[in-house]
Amino acid sequence: MAGRKETILEITENRKLSSTIDNDVIKKPVADYYGMNCFNDEAMRKFLPYNAYLKLKKIIKEGENIDGLLAEEVAHGMKEWAISKGASHYTHWFQPLTGLTAEKHDSFLSFSKDGLPINRFSGKNLSQGEPDASSFPSGGLRATFEARGYTAWDPTSPAFLVETSNGATLCIPSVFLSYTGEALDKKTPLLRSMEKLNDVALRMLHLFGNKNVTEVNSTVGPEQEYFLIDKLYFNQRPDLMLTGRTLFGAKPPKGQEMEDHYFGSIRERVLIFMQDVEARLFKLGIPIKTRHNEVAPAQFEIAAIFEGSNVATDHNQLIMETLRKVANRHNLALLLHEKPFAGINGSGKHNNWSLSDSEGSNLLEPGRTPHDNLQFLTFLMATIKAVYKYSDLLRAAIASAGNDHRLGANEAPPAIISVFLGEQLSKILDNLEGNKKTDYSDKDLIDLGISNLPLISKDNTDRNRTSPFAFTGNKFEFRAVGSADSVSPANFIINTIVCSELDDFANKISSNLKKGMDLNKAVLEVIIPVIKETKPIRFEGNNYDPAWEKEAEKRGLPNKKTTPESLKDYLAPKNIEVFTKTKILNEREIEARYQILLEKYSKTINIEAETALSMARTMILPVAIKYQSILSDAVGSLSKVKGADPKVVAHQVKSMNSYSGLVVDLDKKISTLAVKLKKAVDIKDEVKKADAYCKDVLPATFALREVADSIELQTDDSLWVLPKYQEMLFIY
Ligand code: ADP
Ligand code: MG
Repeated sequence: MAGRKETILEITENRKLSSTIDNDVIKKPVADYYGMNCFNDEAMRKFLPYNAYLKLKKIIKEGENIDGLLAEEVAHGMKEWAISKGASHYTHWFQPLTGLTAEKHDSFLSFSKDGLPINRFSGKNLSQGEPDASSFPSGGLRATFEARGYTAWDPTSPAFLVETSNGATLCIPSVFLSYTGEALDKKTPLLRSMEKLNDVALRMLHLFGNKNVTEVNSTVGPEQEYFLIDKLYFNQRPDLMLTGRTLFGAKPPKGQEMEDHYFGSIRERVLIFMQDVEARLFKLGIPIKTRHNEVAPAQFEIAAIFEGSNVATDHNQLIMETLRKVANRHNLALLLHEKPFAGINGSGKHNNWSLSDSEGSNLLEPGRTPHDNLQFLTFLMATIKAVYKYSDLLRAAIASAGNDHRLGANEAPPAIISVFLGEQLSKILDNLEGNKKTDYSDKDLIDLGISNLPLISKDNTDRNRTSPFAFTGNKFEFRAVGSADSVSPANFIINTIVCSELDDFANKISSNLKKGMDLNKAVLEVIIPVIKETKPIRFEGNNYDPAWEKEAEKRGLPNKKTTPESLKDYLAPKNIEVFTKTKILNEREIEARYQILLEKYSKTINIEAETALSMARTMILPVAIKYQSILSDAVGSLSKVKGADPKVVAHQVKSMNSYSGLVVDLDKKISTLAVKLKKAVDIKDEVKKADAYCKDVLPATFALREVADSIELQTDDSLWVLPKYQEMLFIY
């Protein structure tokens, strides 16, 4: 393999800027081709019998089962559409608990009774699939000897085509279930949570007299951060290839302190890459809006316009996959890991969340009248109460080995979940809380500031970038989701807990109404105590300030710094209760998820430790020994020179000893890590095992890294094998 110098030369001299956008869309107005690779309304209308089209639309909107005849008609139309665009195969596209997406392709090829080849795609092929899925993790839900799990079509997320230069594959978004109907994936609980939240939110809106509303949807707009480096570096770094992050690498003299990257002008190579990515996503009907440079060097962001949570989640998976595929075509490597480089910012995903109704209203948008704003405050307080009561669960929703490096590292919110509301809204809540009146005419509401809400401008509210759960004018922004993770867990958990609190609010409000209270009073009697109760979760200050940790502890807010510690909260009785009561997960499903996430954590740290050991032994220690022998040869020959100044010789011996000391230390740290790793590997109990990886193995990898990085800074650059930070981050 080429050395570092050749790599840099290759990148700077020979990388050609070349577009890979398909000819059919290059330089066309986006609106002309937007959604052409997705079975959207236009395609449905064209390829389905009119009645089938109407029935399908109704089912997508209102739920209900798809009968055999309709499935047959839709399958036929979908196939004709796909074939007209060059598809030969189809696949159920689903999201197993590993966090990636899965697919198994089948061709449309079939044979007629008289043996003639035909393109066939039946209603059954569309509705249900049976991947040979015994190797997907199920956390014990489906013993591997047992029958396989099955995938089932999710008609609420549009089917789409994945293209290569050789043709296309029809992808059918699907859930993945065990034969006993238990969720083996990330989509199922999200769909369940949307349905339950819809029921409860509708009930609430009806209490407020909004009888026309027929549906409430949770909406999500994720902002996706990522790094790009040249593929040649990536291929020379086993740590990046196997773990997604650098396990070694000294901090470069320049990192992000000049703040010259954020929103800076985008390099042409990257811009061409982004345009390629976007063209493909537009074809898939994914509403990409924003692109920019992020804070760290070589870090970028892509954001889509918000959609219903299920579709937004599928689209975020497709965005990540497309980024990866297109990067490869551009000789770039995509790094989605939460912390690919130590010492500079990592990547996350800002998960913007709100609720919208069938009338097009955003339920977290303040209104124009006291009545509207009372409704707004009800949804707001139910959300705040949910976050307060289940902040441990929200923390668990985003727990991963990767995200542990990022949370609380002065670049991302800490592991303490708190809510930021902004000055105006805080003031209104304070007014309500301090209010002594027991009567609530519309005039009183106006006096309490409730009519001022429409004046809240987004600029006023979005200033606190350090808050993990910030109200930003008409939505909440959950800023702690990891960049590599699916947004599904965060969202099905937000939906679940908000659903549970809204349900409680609705029960209390209707019982107040039954007692004869008017609506204002019935509502305020419920929400004012919640304003008082949830005060500890509200925090307007700097979340990165160490003082906040102490303050949060006083307030009794949980602060689970590591994944194994946080994951345990899935099993807390109140958390099991909220899932089972809302029927979003049953006890076995929760337990299974906990097991899978815990095992995933241990496996991740195990791979990191094995990789660190192998790199230290084969790529760092040998270089260090080589340089040590160069040093000692130099000192040896110097001391043999007649008339050499003994002081100079002594000085050089000292330097050499200091370097050799590092080499010895490196060797020791390698042994320590090996011993700790062996111990963790041998532990049978999964909980204890994860703890050992967290508390013993991980710190040992850090200790090893520290010595290796010191050695890097003192070793002849021409001997160093691994691409260095300053090269990966700045030369591309
Ligand atoms: P920023 O947070 O960078 O200031 P915006 O607030 O305009 O940018 O939007 C960020 C993201 O929030 C976008 O993906 C946008 O689509 C999404 N968003 C806006 N409104 C909503 C909503 N009602 N529900 C969910 N996401 C939303
Ligand atoms: Mg934002």
